[in-house]
Amino acid sequence: MCYVAILGNSIFRFEQEDGNLALPFKTDKGYHLGGEVRIIGKEGLGKLLDGLKKILDKVKSDLKVVVPPVPRYVFGGCCEKPGHATNVRSEGYAEKVVSEVQGVRKELKEGLLKRGIDKTWVSGCLDFLDKETKEDQKSRVDSMRQLFQKDNVHLTVKGYANWADRLWEEGQDRHRTLTRQRLQSNRGTGVQRKYFWRGFMSENGTVRNHQKPVFAGRGRGRKYHPYAKK
Ligand SMILES: [Zn+2]
Repeated sequence: MCYVAILGNSIFRFEQEDGNLALPFKTDKGYHLGGEVRIIGKEGLGKLLDGLKKILDKVKSDLKVVVPPVPRYVFGGCCEKPGHATNVRSEGYAEKVVSEVQGVRKELKEGLLKRGIDKTWVSGCLDFLDKETKEDQKSRVDSMRQLFQKDNVHLTVKGYANWADRLWEEGQDRHRTLTRQRLQSNRGTGVQRKYFWRGFMSENGTVRNHQKPVFAGRGRGRKYHPYAKK
């Protein structure tokens, strides 16, 4: 099992005057959003995943736990400067931004599947919340308030500790379930699979190499072999 944390800071954008979405820009006082806070759309996420596919394909593991981005800028923006993160104080903003990040997680799952990146499980994007948090959006946002630092980006020590515990527990659970399912499905067939390997049948091999042995020799009923003597 292997954990892969992706897209952490790349789904948050701000809307420029021309309506295009831009990445936060860096100054000596950190990253800033020079307009309304926005979350990347499906198309933008797809492009990011296209770029990440090569890396994810290289991760050889029986289970890749993909850790999605968690919400940011829920209770405030990058700074107090006028014109920065202008929508963070609007009515219902916190619930909205959290829902949008949850939407990214769903699209991330679909996007990975669509690109053939398998053996993956995408963990929850609110897995840093206290376990006893109720399941409605208002309770989630209320619980989250104590778990963010003043920069509105990083979690508190407790937030990170919650997150690590939950990722570990759920990853282990998922891994156990998958292993059990694989064993059951192997047993379920009742047939030991055989593979053709350099002229021999073997119990070890991969489906990709599977092909029927060809028969050399002459005579009726024999299959033609390209290297047989004429
Ligand atoms: Zn700012």
